[in-house]
Amino acid sequence: MEVKNKIVIVTGAGSGIGKATAIHFAKFRATVVVSDRQEEAAKDVVASIVAGGGNAISIPADVTSFKAVENLVAQTVKEFGRLDVIVNNAGIGPNLLRTHQSTLKDWDKVIAVNQTGVFYCMKVALAQFLKQGGGNIVNIASLAGLKASPNNISYSASKFAVVGMTKSAAMEYATKNIRVNAVCPGYTESALLTQLINAKPEMDAILKSVIPMKRYGRAAEIADAVVWLASDNTQFMTGQTITLDGGTSL
Ligand code: NAP
Repeated sequence: MEVKNKIVIVTGAGSGIGKATAIHFAKFRATVVVSDRQEEAAKDVVASIVAGGGNAISIPADVTSFKAVENLVAQTVKEFGRLDVIVNNAGIGPNLLRTHQSTLKDWDKVIAVNQTGVFYCMKVALAQFLKQGGGNIVNIASLAGLKASPNNISYSASKFAVVGMTKSAAMEYATKNIRVNAVCPGYTESALLTQLINAKPEMDAILKSVIPMKRYGRAAEIADAVVWLASDNTQFMTGQTITLDGGTSL
């Protein structure tokens, strides 16, 4: 995949899909800015990339802070002179409550990370892309951004929003050498999924029963699609969502 020498930020890259994505970019010779609110986790990912001969640095950022996002992009540009790709992956999971039982606190927390955090990263990265004459955004949405997702209202709202922001921004910047796409993973092995199953162990069998492939996705399988969308192999593609869900949406 053609991402060699691209400067790539991955948010929430200390674990799960973000970590796998950072490692995958490095494998294809991109330079990766591994960003997470957990600095230690991000540093471990950088260490494993560098040990494998890749290029990576860590710049911590909590995506709910606009200042932190501005700093993330500014530091990246200061270090490498430009930013080619941002993968907006940082996200938190659902609470498994029905809508009338959801708390205002939960709503605010999920929207702050999954929706407003993606908006902040898009806004700041797009301003940089316009300055330098191009760039590429890959947002991590979800199957929950395409289909009904009961007992999951804040998560559902945030992921539908990510799909909407992807399509709207793709149109706005289509003539500016800027592409915006999203991936929509189904149930994928990660800390987020483990947390969900730990909260309700019966969910494991229920979830697998609705996946035609009868298994969860692997973070590396999602990373493959992210890197492809960010690469020069997909230059005529913008505003699209790619669903990777073992057939669940069928
Ligand atoms: P994960 O293993 O929990 O990874 C998410 C990472 O994002 C964690 O390192 C987390 O740090 C970080 N993060 C959370 N809030 C942040 C913030 N405010 N600022 C910066 N980093 C933050 O979960 P994952 O499954 O890989 O999730 C990655 C993305 O995929 C999310 O957007 C999620 O909604 C999406 N997704 C996942 C699945 C799935 O089944 N796993 C399915 C569809 C979509 P902490 O450890 O501190 O929270």
